[in-house]
Amino acid sequence: MEIDCLFCKIANGQTATDFLFENDKLVVFRDINPHAPVHLLIVPKRHIRSINDLTEGDNAILAEMITTARRMAKKERVDASGYKLLFNVEKGGGQVIFHLHLHLIGGWKK
Ligand code: 5GP
Ligand code: ZN
Repeated sequence: MEIDCLFCKIANGQTATDFLFENDKLVVFRDINPHAPVHLLIVPKRHIRSINDLTEGDNAILAEMITTARRMAKKERVDASGYKLLFNVEKGGGQVIFHLHLHLIGGWKK
């Protein structure tokens, strides 16, 4: 865990946050400043700074983040209407929290 990383603290239970899903590798919680009716963050427990820092050894966690997002989309009932999955990468890509996370955004009126 990185001492000063907010998502390390959240994902490892040191900052109280309601999880919609948790297993030994990742957590899912609602974005504090949602951009849509459904805005979830899928966050690995292990600290990885960004997509730029992934190695081949991270392929499994990356796949699990995406399949978890898909399952959460169904649970939140946005699977049929459609949703966005988004990684912001580094400052120029809009990343503000430098701990890897996948945004699941959806639920707009059709
Ligand atoms: P980024 O721009 O780094 O891809 O997205 C970071 C996201 O984390 C933002 O959408 C922001 O609203 C969300 N966020 C920042 N701090 C907190 C927090 O303390 N709790 C939750 N639930 N979300 C947060
Ligand atoms: Zn971290």
